[in-house]
Amino acid sequence: MNPQKFQAVRGMNDILPDETPAWAFLEETLRRWLNQYGYREVRSPVLEPTGLFIRSIGEVTDIVEKEMYSFVDELNGESLTLRPEATASCVRLAVQHNLLYAGPQRLWYLGPMFRHERPQKGRYRQFHQCGAEALGFAGPDIDAELIVMTARLWGMLGLKDVALEINTIGSLECREQHRQKLITYFEGHLEVLDEDARRRLYSNPLRILDSKNPALKSLIESAPRLIDQLDDASALHFESLRSLLEAAGLQYRINPGLVRGLDYYNATVFEWVTPLLGAQSTLCGGGRYDGLVEQLGGKPTQACGFALGLERLLALLQETRVAAIPVVGPEVYVVHQGEGAQQAAFLIADALRDEGFSVVLHCGGGNFKSQLKRADGCQAAFALIIGEDEVRQQLVSIKPLRGQGAQQTVSLQQAIQLLK
Ligand code: ATP
Ligand code: MG
Repeated sequence: MNPQKFQAVRGMNDILPDETPAWAFLEETLRRWLNQYGYREVRSPVLEPTGLFIRSIGEVTDIVEKEMYSFVDELNGESLTLRPEATASCVRLAVQHNLLYAGPQRLWYLGPMFRHERPQKGRYRQFHQCGAEALGFAGPDIDAELIVMTARLWGMLGLKDVALEINTIGSLECREQHRQKLITYFEGHLEVLDEDARRRLYSNPLRILDSKNPALKSLIESAPRLIDQLDDASALHFESLRSLLEAAGLQYRINPGLVRGLDYYNATVFEWVTPLLGAQSTLCGGGRYDGLVEQLGGKPTQACGFALGLERLLALLQETRVAAIPVVGPEVYVVHQGEGAQQAAFLIADALRDEGFSVVLHCGGGNFKSQLKRADGCQAAFALIIGEDEVRQQLVSIKPLRGQGAQQTVSLQQAIQLLK
């Protein structure tokens, strides 16, 4: 058979050994951060029943209309979808396992999401999100907690130039009134609307406000604003949230055009944006979804959450972080040559691992010079050299590879002390 070379699926990235340290740094920081606030991790499958996303995200949304990887499982005829986001999965999980019987839940997740988008910088077909979901909380205290905790994360990561935008999209009832006004308004400007907007005019006019088409920008900016016709409860919720944010010393901008591209949101919505990543400026988005748990078969449960994109965070880390994330090599690289040296090297490498060191044992032979070149190339801190002399005298030679210090020939016990 002829050999054949394969490429990863378009828009889906391999993460290479030189890149994983930055990912690990970010993931460890996220874990530490979420722990600090008492959020508990959940892991759900990447495949879910297609209906879960249609019901929750909404039929007339970018995601459901054109971005989902859906297929029929030919083995049993089930319609399945690779999750495009995980709020719906999280709620499904909480309802299925009755988590809410034990009271309100602070949950988080991290993992790959899948959307059939046009791949470009900061926009991929497989990407990673970390999200927090607070189920069973009426807010606005929890809304504020979620926003303030994200601000702390930017601090922990050393990120600058991240700005908060908030808005309220009110209750279902006031959204319905607003919807009528929007339809009338956009009907008066049909000639300006693009194809997507015309299609959504009657099914989901709020989505037009979320359009990224620059030709619609000024039309959208002058559209009737929901924030001007809020019901009393939503207005009060928003006011209280604002005071909590101000008390926490957070700066924010109210963006009346911020509506978020998913149907389940109500009341508070927010995004963290940065001017440093070009068109893909949103790092984190979230809001309340008070109706979703009930809609997915649970008891009425108020809720709020957010998701942040890891690829965009990493891109911003690269742009702004002063201290680069170091590529860490092993602590010790063991080189060996000559009679009995290989066996001794195996035993010594393991003895060092027993002491807790990370040890790479040279495999594949070669002379000392070429082995030491490998040791240096993998960023090892020390080389441990075992030749025929060392074997005979039951000693090892230790050579610092980074920075100062001469090679010394010592007992294994002394070498361990030196390494410590
Ligand atoms: P955008 O407006 O950029 O399309 P969105 O509103 O579709 O974002 P959400 O569904 O709210 O995004 O997802 C939350 C976060 O996940 C985004 O703020 C972004 O950081 C990240 N994200 C969303 N889609 C992608 C993607 N295709 N590739 C990489 N990251 C993404
Ligand atoms: Mg999107």
